[in-house]
Amino acid sequence: MSEQAMTSPNKHPQGPLLVVGSGLAGWSVVREFRKLDTQTPVLMITADVGDFYAKPALSNALAQNKAPEQLVTTPAERMVSTLGVTLLQRTAVTSIDVQTQEVHTSKGTFGYRQLVLATGAQAIRLPLAGDAAQAVMSVNSLADYAAFRAQLKPQSRVLIMGAGLIGCEFANDLVLGEHTVQVVDPGASPLAALLPEPASAQLRQALTDLGVNWHWQTTVQAVHRQDNAYAVQLANGQELIVDVVLSSVGLRADTALAQSAGIATDRGVLVDAHLKTNAEHVYALGDNTQYASASVGGVARTLPFVMPIMNAAKALAQTLAGNPTAVVFPLMPVAVKTPTLPLVVSPPAPATQGTWQAAHEGIWHFVSDGKVRGFVLVGAQTSRRAEQSKLVLV
Ligand SMILES: Cc1cc2nc3c(=O)[nH]c(=O)nc-3n(C[C@H](O)[C@H](O)[C@H](O)COP(=O)(O)OP(=O)(O)OC[C@H]3O[C@@H](n4cnc5c(N)ncnc54)[C@H](O)[C@@H]3O)c2cc1C
Repeated sequence: MSEQAMTSPNKHPQGPLLVVGSGLAGWSVVREFRKLDTQTPVLMITADVGDFYAKPALSNALAQNKAPEQLVTTPAERMVSTLGVTLLQRTAVTSIDVQTQEVHTSKGTFGYRQLVLATGAQAIRLPLAGDAAQAVMSVNSLADYAAFRAQLKPQSRVLIMGAGLIGCEFANDLVLGEHTVQVVDPGASPLAALLPEPASAQLRQALTDLGVNWHWQTTVQAVHRQDNAYAVQLANGQELIVDVVLSSVGLRADTALAQSAGIATDRGVLVDAHLKTNAEHVYALGDNTQYASASVGGVARTLPFVMPIMNAAKALAQTLAGNPTAVVFPLMPVAVKTPTLPLVVSPPAPATQGTWQAAHEGIWHFVSDGKVRGFVLVGAQTSRRAEQSKLVLV
């Protein structure tokens, strides 16, 4: 029997393409789909309002004193009219029935001909002691940014948990916005997992010179209210008094909805090269997704960045429009938005054996068996991203 013959018939062949989530992944796949198909009804259901904004801007908008509404590049109503979609705002999909091809929401039940899960990721919340542990903030949406910005007064004292990409970007942005910044991290230097040690030391020095205060090899244990501020206890015994605590310790793919529907998940929703889950007519892309096309050593990977979403959206739109297309990810370097010392990072695949080697001033190559498998560009060398990308053996 052919694969086609074994697939179950579509229960709602005249139903909509239903997209859950209005982040970059949700809107990008709809935009790409509409270039190919202007007729099929599209229903987008989202827990937020559906305004289109560039999430990367959230970690470098404070210094420019950008209000949340200034970060909206296209309001939801304009997305709806331009793309010809029906949008259900502030509506959470609570469950999916993959047999009947229906999603359940607080506003009713909706059938789908094809379903795309673009539910993103959730900020990881570390268990902390103290009566103000719940006051720790994270910024992973425009609404989070609005709440965080509302907490900041002129020259606020801000403690950032985590010296990774987002922690360093916020540290740079907050200091430029004339706030006082303390960063707490269990490691020994910023972006330690991504950078060769000298580049990490250079970033550390640049941010120190700007005014960032670091607390290495320790963690936040407890957050207590103290007058109008917070007393933060570190594992090394120190106590820091701050006005705002921001956690940037990482994100976890939001797989709850898929999991409860019996769709295969691991560290994300598992999809094949066509971005299809193990459920008929159900696809996924974005921060919630673990891509077979990004496998290393047979293990699929999550790719929580903009470029993978753009690539996945183009391929998935083709598949949804009836032209099955596998996603192939090119090399996708990431720019670190620390204007005091900009960086471009193209790390080697996980578990690649090799060493970082200085190629030129400000250019590092990750070399494995004599081949370049990754690179880091520092400062002015970030302009050489296209040229350096050509050297990497993917
Ligand atoms: C501060 C910050 C800076 C970043 N900087 C960069 C950068 O410089 N470069 C880069 O490449 N990447 C960067 N990223 C990562 C990039 O922004 C993300 O990969 C991308 O925006 C994720 O888009 P998404 O659509 O998958 O998820 P999201 O934007 O999280 O969207 C998920 C959507 O799903 C909805 N949703 C979730 N559950 C439900 C439900 N049950 N029912 C209905 N709706 C639901 C949500 O409301 C939301 O609309 C950054 C991320 C952050 C947080």
